[in-house]
Amino acid sequence: MDPSTATIPPQRPVLIVKGLGTWVTLDRSGTVVPLVEHFDLSVNAGERWAIVGESGSGKSISARSIMSLVDPPLVTKADQIQIDGVDLSTASRADWRNVRGQRIAMILQDPLTALSPVFTVGNQLIETIRRRPVSVDVARARSLDLLGQVGIPDPALRMKAYPHELSGGMRQRIAIALALACEPRVLIADEPTTALDVTVQAQILDLLVNLSERSGTAVVIITHDIGILPDFAHKVAVMYGGRLMETGTVDQVVAAPRHPYTQALLRARPGRSSIEGRRRLPIIGGAPPDLLRKQPGCPFAPRCEVALPHCGQIRPKTTLIDGRTVACHLVTNPEGAAN
Ligand code: SF4
Repeated sequence: MDPSTATIPPQRPVLIVKGLGTWVTLDRSGTVVPLVEHFDLSVNAGERWAIVGESGSGKSISARSIMSLVDPPLVTKADQIQIDGVDLSTASRADWRNVRGQRIAMILQDPLTALSPVFTVGNQLIETIRRRPVSVDVARARSLDLLGQVGIPDPALRMKAYPHELSGGMRQRIAIALALACEPRVLIADEPTTALDVTVQAQILDLLVNLSERSGTAVVIITHDIGILPDFAHKVAVMYGGRLMETGTVDQVVAAPRHPYTQALLRARPGRSSIEGRRRLPIIGGAPPDLLRKQPGCPFAPRCEVALPHCGQIRPKTTLIDGRTVACHLVTNPEGAAN
């Protein structure tokens, strides 16, 4: 996996999200609080995106909102959620059940959430594949092939195993195989390696890279680990306070971040050299915003070292600069004129 030789796949969007927002109505006051706002994303076939940010930045809610997996009291709405050419922004729950797993699939942090403890791995794979009209024999052959693709040794033996008989790394590979069973065009992976040791983490990321390169599946990974970006992703979306702060290619955003939050995140990542590794890491002062508290202005304002006087009152617009987007007054509105 050499990022310097990685090329961004041709422009054929398989996931387009425009104007996605998710809200919750607070019980006591009836106040409607936005948890995710103005979320836009366009992902091409074979492209790998990372959505990064601290815990509580709205990454996972955004991913679940894209998949229409939020339940009341949360409400989600979007101007457009187009998956492989089909707009699902007004799709019913029944429509979504047909789409999930087929056009778009999700891998969760805990593979046990995706796996049933009472069925063998083989049963679960075959049943998932047979959502399409194929025979048991075809589904069994495809299951064995999938287990081989995700690096499971002795697939025939593992088909007979129950999830609790397997290691955490192997369960995550099987969860990935299940997610791929119906050949989705888009795979969203929500912190898929957080619970795994470093070696298995690297193997799972390699697996996702190979998958996107081999089959053209678009992969969107949700992670708080900004360190994986150069080796894994073509493009990155940095989230904070339920909003996209900066998006662009990894080369742009990591080498020359324009948003103060991206800059602070990158400064706080562990150094790669032994000298840097021994140095005390800078931290981002303060705490992430409480998403349940409505606040005007830029969500990063209370922690931003370069905040302007109007930052806490006026929300910055998202601006396109050099092919990347940045939501910061330093870029769009340094004088503080109302926008
Ligand atoms: Fe900092 Fe203001 Fe930019 Fe927000 S808008 S990141 S507070 S400079």
